[in-house]
Parts: sequence; C-alpha cells; structure tokens
Amino acid sequence: MASPRCPSCRLLVKLPPENKTFPFCSERCRTIDLGRWLGEEFRVPTRQVEEDEDGGGLAPGPARPPEDA
Ligand SMILES: [Zn+2]
Repeated sequence: MASPRCPSCRLLVKLPPENKTFPFCSERCRTIDLGRWLGEEFRVPTRQVEEDEDGGGLAPGPARPPEDA
C-alpha cells in the first residue's frame, strides 16, 4: 500500500486514527490548504462587486430618456 503524501507540503503522512489531520501531515498544513480554498472563494464576490458598480453607473442613463418623457 502506497504511503499517502500531504497535499500541502508533500511529506509522507501517517494514516488515521494515528493521524488526526489526515490527509495532511499536521494541523498547520490543513489550515494552509483550507486558507487556499477560502482565498479562491473570496475572489468570486470581489468580481461581482466590480460588475455591480459598473452596472450601477449605466442605470441612471437609460432610466431617464429625455425626449420620450
Ligand atoms: Zn504537510
């Protein structure tokens, strides 16, 4: 059976229940990997804010057509 490696630091990791942070070698590596996932998720709402600001700028224009009113 092949020995698993830590997804964060690539070191060999022990199997559970001996290793409570499996598949990571330590609590620290698990936190690092978790932070990486959260970092990518935080990018999504940031992009939506930029699009919302752009749409908000266009809204007052077509909302009041001067000749048709
Ligand atoms: Zn590790």
